[in-house]
Amino acid sequence: MNKNEEITEAIKEYSRKLFIDDEVELIIGFGRAKNGKSKPQIFWTKEDVDNFLWDENISINQATFTSKYKDKKIGIVAQGCVSRSLVVLINENQLKRENLVIIGVPCQGAYIESKNSLHESCLSCKYPMPVIYDYLVDVKPIEINSDPIQERVKKIEALSDKEKLEYFKEQMNKCIRCYACRQACPMCYCETCFVDVNSPKWLSKANETNDNGIWSIVRTYHIAGRCVECGACDRSCPEGVDLMYLIGKMNRDIKTLFGFESGLKIGALPAFSAFNPYDPDFFWDGESKEKESGKKEGGS
Ligand code: SF4
Ligand code: SF4
Ligand code: SF4
Repeated sequence: MNKNEEITEAIKEYSRKLFIDDEVELIIGFGRAKNGKSKPQIFWTKEDVDNFLWDENISINQATFTSKYKDKKIGIVAQGCVSRSLVVLINENQLKRENLVIIGVPCQGAYIESKNSLHESCLSCKYPMPVIYDYLVDVKPIEINSDPIQERVKKIEALSDKEKLEYFKEQMNKCIRCYACRQACPMCYCETCFVDVNSPKWLSKANETNDNGIWSIVRTYHIAGRCVECGACDRSCPEGVDLMYLIGKMNRDIKTLFGFESGLKIGALPAFSAFNPYDPDFFWDGESKEKESGKKEGGS
């Protein structure tokens, strides 16, 4: 048995037990699609369990589905980034820990067929192990010793302002504002998104570069200090807009400035929701007085 087969069998075993013991009403995971690959699936009965499948095509973030079932007792299969998403959602009062039963999976990464490689977020992943779980599948996670997102962020940081703007415009020209990136993100759970508000109207409905840029910038700020870098938004984009560099830059700035990484600890507020008198203040006076000591609880 390869690792994914081992994981699949362990998930089936845990899930069967959860249904038999009446511990959950549903389990969010992946099932076998007609093409033999995995697809996101909600499992409702112990008879469904045989269809569980864990493979390298885990391109969505399962935590996104929890908002639909938050009043139920949810079972969920969670690798590192998904468990971190659950932590953020618990911290933001979107989920109750006691309503969740988490089957933790040491992650093997999400594979992108067209690139014949793991997704950039997985190649840069620091937390393939689930950070919270009730049951844990006994396999080793992938070993990652790279950070291609960081490398690309650095390359873009080294460009002149004009070149940066050109790169940004080039990306925003590709955007068709389908909002698939929003739908794929567990942190984009607002009942009404600012783009759908007509009064005041923040953005035109027309697909044009400036408004596309505002969309991406505002979304990036909305997930600042909350994003777990699962890469689901980037993988969902039909136009190949480079979202990982925007998100990656934001995440790395939050870590450098506030010593904070999201989703690592229950009880830790997002960087922008917590005030710390030692937060760096060079935005205002041109120098960071307390940059080194500006860490928040829950940061690494
Ligand atoms: S980012 Fe990729 S490797 Fe890391 S936990 Fe998520 S799916 Fe797994
Ligand atoms: S960035 Fe991609 S997924 Fe998001 S709205 Fe634009 S085209 Fe759609
Ligand atoms: S913004 Fe993208 S990478 Fe970050 S949590 Fe949402 S879907 Fe994942």
